[in-house]
Amino acid sequence: MGTQSSSGSSTLIPPTATIQAGGRLDVRRLSVRFASAAQDEALALSHVDLSIAPGEFVVALGPSGCGKTTLLNCLAGFVQASQGEALLDGVPITGPSPELGVVFQKHALLPWLNVVDNVALGLRFRGFSRSDRIAVALEKLRLVGLEQFAQSPVYQLSGGMQQRVGIARALANDPRVLLMDEPMGALDALTRESIQELLVKVWQRTGKTIFFITHSVEEALFLGSRVIVMSPRPGRIDHQFDLPFSRDYLASGDARAVKSSPDFIAWRERLLQLVHQAS
Ligand code: ADP
Ligand code: MG
Repeated sequence: MGTQSSSGSSTLIPPTATIQAGGRLDVRRLSVRFASAAQDEALALSHVDLSIAPGEFVVALGPSGCGKTTLLNCLAGFVQASQGEALLDGVPITGPSPELGVVFQKHALLPWLNVVDNVALGLRFRGFSRSDRIAVALEKLRLVGLEQFAQSPVYQLSGGMQQRVGIARALANDPRVLLMDEPMGALDALTRESIQELLVKVWQRTGKTIFFITHSVEEALFLGSRVIVMSPRPGRIDHQFDLPFSRDYLASGDARAVKSSPDFIAWRERLLQLVHQAS
């Protein structure tokens, strides 16, 4: 099967979102080598090229160790390239920035702060007044359906609700890009599905560029406007495909119907084969 490259056309972005200014990511000939005794295993990424248009939702799929997290960490400014570069709107990414919102699997929510203060924390560091940051935090909590829990202590929330707080917190800075590293990995199946649906709606409403990592083929298919399939040793992108399913879900509102459609199932088997070949 050949690699189908994305045109970055407007069919890839959500149907009704206000597309924000900026949010383009470019990865050019990116290689990352970690210091290691075993030379052949030290090359985490080799000459990776990837362009993500503003408002695209790109999901990375691939076996453990293929460099997904390393790629995301380069985009987040946490890891520097050994060769090549990663750019946000044409400017090299040299370190973490409020423009690059990161959502991890485990959230370092502060247990002594309530929900709204956790969401507002980044704005506090950036010098926003209390009333301004609470207003922004409440707006983001509304977006993830947690407004009524604004005053709750975070330790009272379920795992799924904490993950929604994490998404609201990342959005509070109004980043140009959301970077998400297996954020649903620790959730039970039903919670995971409901947060997938929420995330597609957040994508539609905010028009954010999203780069999302998962192990789950089904999750990749449902969420992404494009999926990239990576393989290890050295980490590289083997395939990429444009996908219709998140837009189908936004049109129909019926996630089960989308995930049980013959087209979705055919894609699932095709991608499962590719991921198994890659590992
Ligand atoms: P994935 O997220 O796809 O599972 P990673 O990006 O975490 O893969 O890792 C890719 C490769 O780089 C693996 O072989 C891993 O062991 C190695 N690696 C990742 N981070 C480091 C590090 N800080 N130091 C040394 N090797 C690392
Ligand atoms: Mg990883």
